[in-house]
Amino acid sequence: MGVAEIVEEHDDWVKAKILLDTVEPHELLDPTLSAEDLLYRLYHEDGVTVYPETQLRRHCTCSVETVAEMLRRFSPEDRADMVKDGEIEVVCEFCSSVYRFKPSQFA
Ligand SMILES: [Zn+2]
Repeated sequence: MGVAEIVEEHDDWVKAKILLDTVEPHELLDPTLSAEDLLYRLYHEDGVTVYPETQLRRHCTCSVETVAEMLRRFSPEDRADMVKDGEIEVVCEFCSSVYRFKPSQFA
């Protein structure tokens, strides 16, 4: 990407922000004005493309297998330090799933 392209991109972004600043609070609060209509109102000169919405859902890739594999990479001493009340408990930081293991399964 050349310098001229970067400058051009920058100008487009500045223009986009200037136009966005012209939005009045009542437009943002108007229940009869859809987001698509507002976008068109602001940016119709440059063309507006609205992509189909994407449904988001909570999803985490953790599993008993991946957590056990992670625990296997620790040294036996480190795993021994993790044992509480006869088991190793791991809580996924992303989805809060709780996994419990018997220390003997890593022997
Ligand atoms: Zn998770």
